[in-house]
Amino acid sequence: MAIATVNPATGETLKTFEPLTDTELESKLDRADRAFGVYRLTSLAERAAWLRAAADIVETQSDRFARIITLEMGKPISQAIAEVKKCALVCRYYADRGSEFLADRPIDTDAKTSYVRYQAIGPVLAVMPWNFPFWQVFRFAAPAFMVGNVGLLKHASNVPQCAIAIEEIFQEAGFPTGTFQTLLVGSDKVEKIVSDDRVKAATLTGSEAAGSSLAAIAGKYIKKTVLELGGSDPYIVLPSADLDKAAATAVTARTLNSGQSCIAAKRFILADAIADEFQSRFVEKLQGLKMGDPTQEDTDIGPLATPGIRDELHSLVRQCISKGATALIGGELPDGPGNFYPPTAIADIPPGTPADSEEFFGPVALLFRVPNLEAAITLANRVPLGLGASVWTQVEAEADRAINRLESGSVFVNGMVKSDPRLPFGGVKKSGYGRELGIQGIHEFANVKTIWVGE
Ligand code: NAP
Repeated sequence: MAIATVNPATGETLKTFEPLTDTELESKLDRADRAFGVYRLTSLAERAAWLRAAADIVETQSDRFARIITLEMGKPISQAIAEVKKCALVCRYYADRGSEFLADRPIDTDAKTSYVRYQAIGPVLAVMPWNFPFWQVFRFAAPAFMVGNVGLLKHASNVPQCAIAIEEIFQEAGFPTGTFQTLLVGSDKVEKIVSDDRVKAATLTGSEAAGSSLAAIAGKYIKKTVLELGGSDPYIVLPSADLDKAAATAVTARTLNSGQSCIAAKRFILADAIADEFQSRFVEKLQGLKMGDPTQEDTDIGPLATPGIRDELHSLVRQCISKGATALIGGELPDGPGNFYPPTAIADIPPGTPADSEEFFGPVALLFRVPNLEAAITLANRVPLGLGASVWTQVEAEADRAINRLESGSVFVNGMVKSDPRLPFGGVKKSGYGRELGIQGIHEFANVKTIWVGE
């Protein structure tokens, strides 16, 4: 895939970038290695101050960075601004809490003293996706910086200007040179980077295929990985739910980022008793969404990031319909330029369609009906993915059962699944492994060193 900025709203190629040569890549790896030697010796207070400076930069220039995001991947501008501002939160969170998370942990044993100490491991490669091109990188970088690691970013090929801007932010914030470097390379160079002795670990947020490939390479070279992969999250609505709130939240949960979110609610599993009512409220709200120019403040749905994503999504929708499903709204490609896809809801989906196994990465809601919670849980767990899950009920026993039985990395009761710097984030099954954010996120790429001191 060429490294280029292509406006998803028009299809126009605005800027192309030459990938790094092998010599340039070698010099960046060397710089990362040397930077680690310096950076690992900095104090937690210094790291926190640089993170706070980065937070100030993204906050004060959020409009500028948001425009780059919208230009490169088509996110509606108001959502792009919110994404950039959220990056400040994660920087401040680890600046404030990092020293507490990284403090020695005493453990009683037969030793005079024994404890755990968390130490940096070195340069970490981050292979990142385009869908939240700032947030995904910051949620990797903030804990990595706090623990004392240095970062190498291989960003998605369609967001090079985002990748360059992020490197500039960390440089301007005062981090020592080389602490964070953007590598403009295609995915064909990932093996070379991961296998390099100077790179100690890797994290990838993206598709199952990419995650599996990276993990195989890292496994060969015995390097730690964290994988944040796709999701086909269930959104279960039970009879006692507050239907107004559940339907309104469902629209946001499905269409945020024009539906291109790993933790978007994708499968709406509705109890028979409320299914008609929920469906009509949900579809009415989808009809009210404004699709169009993502640079306009009042746009709800922008274009999808690439023509390939739109083609893939439409093909999944058509396969469902050809097997007997019904489009309640949408499901047709609009005329005109850009990768636009309308808000779509599909019901009456028989078994044996892509809804059983595939991730619908766009504003397409899959609606199912079930007689009770047991059937809802069975249906929810049927897919190979297990990222998040949302359950709507006022009955505590139902919530408890869902929390215990859903195969997912998180369960949100009476709310939509979202990421929050304070809460660990990640999946089970084919959604990946490891956690980002929270205290767990900062320990993923640390050497958890056991110390035992005798008399
Ligand atoms: P993708 O094609 O897997 O790309 C993600 C990144 O991986 C890009 O930088 C890409 O580089 C790189 N890549 C692609 N193939 C690779 C390979 N064989 N080896 C190493 N790197 C490779 O995913 P996407 O379509 O851009 O992103 C959407 C996917 O990401 C969805 O499945 C979504 O659910 C998932 N996602 C998950 C999370 C989470 O936290 N769990 C968050 C956001 C998105 P190029 O661009 O150069 O190909």
